[in-house]
Amino acid sequence: MKGANSLKPVPLVEVKNLTVKYQSPEGEITALKNLSLEVGKGEFIGIVGPSGCGKSTLLNVIAGLITTYTGEVLICGKAVRRGTRMVGYMPQSDQLFEWRTIWKNVLLGLEVQNNLNERTKSFAWKLLENYGLADFAHAYPRQLSGGMRQRAALIRTLAVDPEILLLDEAFSALDYQTRLIVADEVKQIIARENKTAILVTHDIAEAISMSDKVVVLTKRPGSIKSIHNIELTCSEKTPLKSREAPEFRLYFNSIWKELDVHV
Ligand code: ADP
Ligand code: MG
Repeated sequence: MKGANSLKPVPLVEVKNLTVKYQSPEGEITALKNLSLEVGKGEFIGIVGPSGCGKSTLLNVIAGLITTYTGEVLICGKAVRRGTRMVGYMPQSDQLFEWRTIWKNVLLGLEVQNNLNERTKSFAWKLLENYGLADFAHAYPRQLSGGMRQRAALIRTLAVDPEILLLDEAFSALDYQTRLIVADEVKQIIARENKTAILVTHDIAEAISMSDKVVVLTKRPGSIKSIHNIELTCSEKTPLKSREAPEFRLYFNSIWKELDVHV
């Protein structure tokens, strides 16, 4: 339809022809090449791809941490800036500071942003309460289970109230059962807080069960290989229930084949 484009809302995140190169002693490495991707507000995007294909690089660019690239990276139509408050980054290891209590850990992001006040503190406290960690506010990270630590890390990320959450292999340090439970919790929390999320994972099942769309990247230099819109028939779209949907295996098999290095 003519003119339909002008009605389309601006995507929350727009990556256009992104190319990122690293200089290393062995020479130049092209990590990402001509990658384009749009993420709508409220979407949950899963990204899978072979190891070393540039997944973390992509998140670093969207977070404003890597600023040397060609192409465009826009958030709400504006070029992303270093130190942007729009983005919360939850790295692979929870990176809680062992010498700080859970409460002090949760406040860290606000401290770094110089944004600690009664309002932000009470918001952070509410998150701790809502997600079952208020009783552990004065405990140290080592006193918590792996799943609770991961929840604390998520609350720290949410405390700064970012629009977009970037999760880099956020659950891979957890054992399988804990991972399923924590993924369920995290998905619910993100939905309830009405956030947009980009999850990088090497776990195809995790990507399918959590995401609205799964993006498959090519091997390095990473670019888009395919995008799968995930539509599952299940009573509740929780990561656990999703796995029982009849379509689950079909998505799994086709993404698996696309990732197969031998093909
Ligand atoms: P992934 O997260 O998909 O495993 P990365 O984004 O971490 O991949 O890395 C993509 C490629 O860029 C890899 O080959 C990696 O070795 C290389 N790379 C990543 N960071 C640097 C860096 N700071 N300097 C040089 N090469 C890097
Ligand atoms: Mg990585």
